[in-house]
This record gives sequence, C-alpha cells and structure tokens, in this order.
Amino acid sequence: MRQADKQTLQRILDENRKYTAMGKVADYIPELRRANPAALGLTVAAKDTGIASVGDCDTTFTLQSISKVISLLVALLDHGPEKVFAKVGMEPSGDPFNSIIKLETMNHHKPLNPMINAGAIAVASMISGRNVEERFQRVCGLIRMMTGNNGISLSEQTYQSEKATGDRNRALAYFMKSTGIIESDVEEALDLYFRLCSIEVRCSDLAKIGLYLANWGRMEGSDSLQIDPCLVQILLTIMVTSGMYNASGEFAIHVGIPAKSGVSGGIMAVVPNRMGIGVIGPAIDDKGNSVAGIRVLEDLSKTFGLHLFSER
Ligand code: GLN
Repeated sequence: MRQADKQTLQRILDENRKYTAMGKVADYIPELRRANPAALGLTVAAKDTGIASVGDCDTTFTLQSISKVISLLVALLDHGPEKVFAKVGMEPSGDPFNSIIKLETMNHHKPLNPMINAGAIAVASMISGRNVEERFQRVCGLIRMMTGNNGISLSEQTYQSEKATGDRNRALAYFMKSTGIIESDVEEALDLYFRLCSIEVRCSDLAKIGLYLANWGRMEGSDSLQIDPCLVQILLTIMVTSGMYNASGEFAIHVGIPAKSGVSGGIMAVVPNRMGIGVIGPAIDDKGNSVAGIRVLEDLSKTFGLHLFSER
C-alpha cells in the first residue's frame, strides 16, 4: 500500500481513538471482560494495493458473531439457498441479537435472519459432518484458507466461558427444536455455535476474509475452493441488511459498506471488488457494536469514497 494511504489510515485511527472511551467491553461472557477497552486496530487488505495495518492490530480477539457469516456460507455450500432459507429468514429483525420474542410469533417460527443468535444456531444445526469436531474443522478450515493463516484456532477459555453462560442461547435452541426449525441434535448445534464464536483472530485475519468475499471467493495463486459468486452475493446482502444487528439501517446510511460485527468488538467489512477491512475496538455500544470501530469505518468510507451508493 502507498505510504500516503497508510498515513491516511493512521490519521483515521488516531482521530477516532477518542471514541473507545464511549463504549464498554462486553461482560455477559466473562472471558470478554478481559479485553482492553482502549484498544483500536485497523487492517485494510486491498485488491490492487496490498495490505496495511495501523494501531493495536496485534490484539487477538474472538470472532463472536462474525463467525455467523462463515457458518452461513458453509450451510449454503452444503444445502443450497432454498433449503437453508426454509429454516431461517432473510429479514432484518430490529431486535437485539439475542432476542427471543419473535420466534414464537413469526411465520413457521423461523428466526428472522442468520446474523442474529437464533438464526445462527439454526444455521449451525444444518452444517454437515459426522460429529461436532468435524463440523467445526470444516468451518475453521475455510477460515484458515481465506486468511492463509493455519494457526487460527479456538480460544479454549472463551469457549468454556460461552458454554458456562450460554443459557439464553440454549433457550433459543430448545425453542427452535420444539418447533422443528432444528432437526438435528440440539446440544451439538449449540456446541458448534459456541466453538465458532470462540475462534481467535487478529484484525488482519478479518481483512483477509473480507478481501476473499470482495473477490467473490477467488484467491490469486491458490487452488482455493471455488464458490458460486451467487452465494457471496447472498452473504453481502445479508450483511448490509442485518450485519450490524438493530443498527444495520443507521450503519448503511452512514457507512454504506457490507459489514458484520461481534461483541468482542471486531468488525469485518467488504467493499466489493476493492478491499476487505478488519477493525478491532473492544468497547461496544448497547447494541453490541464497536463504538470506535463504527467511527473508523465511517471515516474510511467518506475519505476513500467507499459507500455502496455514491455519485462518483
Ligand atoms: N457468543 C455471543 C453470543 O452468543 C455472540 C453474540 C455477538 O457477537 N453478538 O451471545
């Protein structure tokens, strides 16, 4: 990446660091409490100009809800869109990510979309494999391939912490079992979901996942799995409508980039045909999104003209 662009990234990071003070680290999963609320890191992986990282990009964190994008991709590869969307909807929810309220009232009891917890647990229940370990390795293997980072694996502490405190997710899952949305073993679906949330990464990994999607699943110089670009189109569209939970509309207006956040403070964003972006800022707002991370993405979008709908 050009020196001038890297300096711009550094400027964006420095100017938005003050917003880290306006959020709080997630504490409902005890292990997440240990994150540094003042951390802020950014990686941009551009198709033409390469990769650049600024700020606290050595910070490790867990994927949390960002894993929902990859597990959806695996379920789509396994079964195709028709079968997957028979069990989970495509509509934004307007409710918090772990909300249970609409599961009873929605048509066929379908969770509204795959980016909220209920939808992602239903998606996890559809991933093929002989056992939870094999299913986990299929999703984790895909992430390793996208990032070229074979060291990516589970944070055992976060996984144990998720399992110990995941009663709301258990409630969602057992409800969906009772209504037939989950057809396979409910404990295995939950176990896989907890493991996927606990995959540990850095923001450069998020940027590379983003670049893989920006390239419609193609990777130069690698015999990577060829995926149907239509599946990437589905992922990006769902990221626009639901990727930032019940702040997705506001984010679409101010930032205008398909993105997925997690309660660890990570955000993975994709500018189709141009770049992948990874941000970490563990201090989150009451909707579960990184406060400074959103500001960094807004600034990036305005500075480099990245909004989906631009005059230029
Ligand atoms: N593991 C978290 C949970 O299930 C993921 C939620 C999130 O990142 N918003 O509650």
